[in-house]
Amino acid sequence: MNNLIVANWKMNPTSQKEAKNIFDAIKKGAKSDKVEVVICPPFIYLPLLSGLTLGAQNCFWQESGTYTGEISPSMLKDLGVKYVIIGHSERRKYFGETDEQVNKKLKAVLAAGLNPILCIGENAEQREKGETEMILKNQLIIGMGGIEVGDNFTVAYERIWAISGGDPYKTKELPTPEKVEKTHSYIRGILEGMYGKKVADSIRIIYGGSANAGNAKDYLENAKVQGFLVGGASLRPDDFNQIVKSAE
Ligand code: PEP
Repeated sequence: MNNLIVANWKMNPTSQKEAKNIFDAIKKGAKSDKVEVVICPPFIYLPLLSGLTLGAQNCFWQESGTYTGEISPSMLKDLGVKYVIIGHSERRKYFGETDEQVNKKLKAVLAAGLNPILCIGENAEQREKGETEMILKNQLIIGMGGIEVGDNFTVAYERIWAISGGDPYKTKELPTPEKVEKTHSYIRGILEGMYGKKVADSIRIIYGGSANAGNAKDYLENAKVQGFLVGGASLRPDDFNQIVKSAE
């Protein structure tokens, strides 16, 4: 299974011109036969960009109808989008997304034939209270409840307290690769309990939280992550392309 590197641009940049410039610079440097690269820009830039695999940062669970402001999986599919990030911590935090809603979204994404990237992770308070494993287990069991995993299901484990506020080189505390590996093994164990070893092994587990050009190789080699969800560094083409190279 190839490593997967996903760029989450979040609500950036603020113009079409910048979006095209960043995308073109990534396209020049990030093409790789050995790594799957997915760019998730804001929805409105999706139709402007081509030449790399595209993903969306969110979607709704209904196909169409009276849901002001929402975007459906079929609309994304029609645009040629292949991946959808579901349950990102910022959606959970700012928009109150619950594990039950995440579950509905995952089902809709799979029904449309798109590849979901399910985000799970503990925040600083949950970490301090020693609740990390309980939180991850609940997010997986409720979020993936009743879901049959197909060929291309990804879990992105994000230590929310290690997510950069935009600058992935400024984050004060980062988990060691050993700690990330331990948590990834825990997640893999939960997935094995839910689906059996064969299916669990087909699920990619990628890591998110201030991944940058300087630390990517260390995480890939020593935490054995299968790729990254990249926020801040994905808006810096040279850094992002370096992360892709590290994953080859
Ligand atoms: C994220 O929010 O998904 C993320 C990983 O961001 P960053 O790389 O900026 O920490």
